[in-house]
Amino acid sequence: MNPLLLVKKEPYKLYINGEFVASESGKTFEVINPVDNQPFASAYKGGIADVKKAIIAARHAFDEGPWSKMSAKERSKLLLKAGQILSRRVEEFATIETLECGKLYMSALYYEAQMSIDAFEYFAGKARCLEGKVVPCDTGHLNYVLWQPCGVVGEILPWNGPFMMGCQKVCAILAAGNTVVIKPSSWASLSMLLIAEVFHEAGFPAGVVNVVTGPGSEVGDELVRNPLVDMVSMTGGTEVGKHIIGSSKDTVKDIALELGGKSPNIVFNDINVDEIVQWAKFGFTNNAGQVCVSGTRLILHRNIYEEFIGKLKIECEKMIPGNGFDYEKGVNFSTLISKEHASNVWNYIKKGKSEGARVIMGGEPYDDPELAKGNFVPPTIFADVTRDMTIFQEEIFGPVLCITPFETEEEAIEIANATKYGLAGAVFSANIKRALRVAQNIKGGQIYVNTYFSKGMIESPGTGWKESGIGVAGIQKYMISKTVFVDMQDGSIPPA
Ligand code: NAD
Repeated sequence: MNPLLLVKKEPYKLYINGEFVASESGKTFEVINPVDNQPFASAYKGGIADVKKAIIAARHAFDEGPWSKMSAKERSKLLLKAGQILSRRVEEFATIETLECGKLYMSALYYEAQMSIDAFEYFAGKARCLEGKVVPCDTGHLNYVLWQPCGVVGEILPWNGPFMMGCQKVCAILAAGNTVVIKPSSWASLSMLLIAEVFHEAGFPAGVVNVVTGPGSEVGDELVRNPLVDMVSMTGGTEVGKHIIGSSKDTVKDIALELGGKSPNIVFNDINVDEIVQWAKFGFTNNAGQVCVSGTRLILHRNIYEEFIGKLKIECEKMIPGNGFDYEKGVNFSTLISKEHASNVWNYIKKGKSEGARVIMGGEPYDDPELAKGNFVPPTIFADVTRDMTIFQEEIFGPVLCITPFETEEEAIEIANATKYGLAGAVFSANIKRALRVAQNIKGGQIYVNTYFSKGMIESPGTGWKESGIGVAGIQKYMISKTVFVDMQDGSIPPA
């Protein structure tokens, strides 16, 4: 299969008010394949005028359009229909995601695409069981609590999993009864521009879903500041998240932020080293470390320290970097998204060396000229990393592992909690009481015990603690509560 046959020759268009349109400026941008840094497609570049049009369309569809007046059953059926359309086009989406983000095609096809379809099915069901509650009221009044849609939601996405994450978030937004303006990352816009075709074909009313590309400082910023947008959800880096907290203040807008992480992975000495080495490897090399919940700080019991590190090195050296379509050649390690991002990661590697961490492997570019065309950074392992080092404290968002030894349970927890982040974490131990105690004490919103990575992202989403985010997780992130008091007495009057 030639993947380029699935790429449109003309620029991918914005989707506003039920129409595929060029940007007002007519400007386009090249879409780059990070495996060789060559352009393979183009897309219209949105700006403030475009996003304003999209916001008005979403506002109209929510306030006056059919969407908010539809029954949950009707909305659910539309989501199911869209999921079926996506299933039909799954190879196209997996191909585009592989080309644009440098992913492994098999993972894009058999994991991310399947999880994306599942999001349509799950949220189609969820749309029909959004329940409130009745609160016992001593005064004899009836009190009930409703969850209602926020209204117009701006969804700002990162580049590291735009297809799956975009589907999961947009389906939740729609199931809750909102309308949406999606702002994908400029590094990865195509999957959301394409998903607009799915919603269009399924028959979603105009304005319910809108997709506008463009710079975060313009298009994203407008979504945050515009008073016609009721709620903004952003997934991305902590610095941009902090900026959004500031720019949302004038409208006191509801915001939800899913931000960076530096997740601890604690391994006790009562485990099977050969098995757990595989989890440690997977935890920091999956998608070349470009996963928010990556286990990038391995906190390793001193009694197995050198043995574990030696075996981890052997396993990581077996990884085969390359083009994600070359699965038959065994490629299982991907590129970073861009030259700029790879350069940031190299700077952290230099910093790790200069601050005195011990390089176990990696830390130098690959020799292969084919790989030099892309943005590959080999799995890089630093041992003896102390908490005062930059590489211990800051999110690198690449395949860089920092290993720190510990002796006692208390010390492991203290090291785990010694950064500003609180996104995720893991603990490996055969002693289940101890493992659960540690899970309880890691300050983070998503913890894995004797495994790594979430097994139910939409059913059981994690909340970012500390500087890893704000806002509740799950569909209620896109809803707002209302409490209603009902007087059931005939002729009651206020107290004198
Ligand atoms: P980023 O913060 O650079 O960008 C995220 C999005 O915000 C992009 O669409 C960008 O255009 C937009 N943006 C930038 N400036 C803006 C502004 N002033 N106003 C509004 N929007 C603006 O992040 P990234 O590099 O695309 O993604 C990587 C980061 O995302 C990592 O830190 C990673 O940990 C994080 N992430 C977090 C989660 C999570 O669930 N917590 C999931 C995936 C990724």
